[in-house]
Amino acid sequence: MKPSWNELSRLIGNTPMIGIHYRYQNKERTVYVKCEHYNLTGSIKDRMALYILRQAYESGSLTPDHTIVEVTSGNTGISFAALGSLLGHRVRVIMPDWMSEERKLMIKSYGAEIIPVSKEQGGFLGSLRLSQEMAKADPKVFLPCQFSNEANSFAHQETTGHEIRIQLAQQGLTPTVFVAGVGTGGTLVGVGRTLQSYISNVKIHPLEPEESPTITTGYKVGAHRIQGISDEFIPAILQGSKWDEVVQASDGDAILMAQQLASTLGLGVGISSGANLIGAIKLQALYGDQSVVATVFPDSNKKYLTTDLTRHEPVKAHYISPQVALLGFCVLEKAR
Ligand code: PMP
Repeated sequence: MKPSWNELSRLIGNTPMIGIHYRYQNKERTVYVKCEHYNLTGSIKDRMALYILRQAYESGSLTPDHTIVEVTSGNTGISFAALGSLLGHRVRVIMPDWMSEERKLMIKSYGAEIIPVSKEQGGFLGSLRLSQEMAKADPKVFLPCQFSNEANSFAHQETTGHEIRIQLAQQGLTPTVFVAGVGTGGTLVGVGRTLQSYISNVKIHPLEPEESPTITTGYKVGAHRIQGISDEFIPAILQGSKWDEVVQASDGDAILMAQQLASTLGLGVGISSGANLIGAIKLQALYGDQSVVATVFPDSNKKYLTTDLTRHEPVKAHYISPQVALLGFCVLEKAR
């Protein structure tokens, strides 16, 4: 017996949202965060994986004899590996070889195969080329294409964005600012569309690593440690959508913030979550007391235990996390 799509959606999405109280620049304020590490495999990517598979099954483009092949920095591979194993698919994950060990082990534990691609073999762009070649050579290869598939952003438009709107409304609040680190851009664009549809002047800010500002430059520069965002190009989903100025977070600052979330509030989240909180705090300093700023924690700290997240991180003068005191949090009612 397999769960129906509706049953599966009880394990994915409808996540808790919290309001984090903090002090920064002598002001005590609150930002609101969706806790996406509560999803089935522990990350926000479960939402779009479920949405894409369901849509593909319903349209007939995916049948049980297909092999699912996806290019991913990790979390998407974990989501497709888990759902693929449940639905009986062979899953092959093409992944740059510098991603964390935990990501690789988790994908393998769901029975999927990893095809590692090195920087010399073309990294992310080389991985995308390889996936297209595999699909051309075999009609039974299904490519979810998370970087260009509209269903990715629709998943967030219909679920994440909708839930943020409801959970804040239950507190009598209307979000005025949303910020999220951009990997595929699905979260930013999808949530952005929902909020833009009912708040005319809501601000939608992409976030990128200071060390590798892909969105600002338009192409890959430098290297960074915030796995899951700023891959090597501006994703197609982001192009052609409406967003505001890019916010930057240093990878070291993001690590320090994620460490502080775990050690002072018991919130064990990943490096991109630390980056998103930095972005939210910077934007609230910019927009002031009346702003209602929302963001997401895309995943937990469990995939980063062998990375710099668990090591001593030196402080640099321009970091904001050493100036932020995390004071506590409240937990909002669920959306449904
Ligand atoms: N953080 C992490 C840890 C991720 O895995 C991802 C997805 N690549 C993101 C942030 C960015 O999400 P999106 O792809 O929706 O832009």
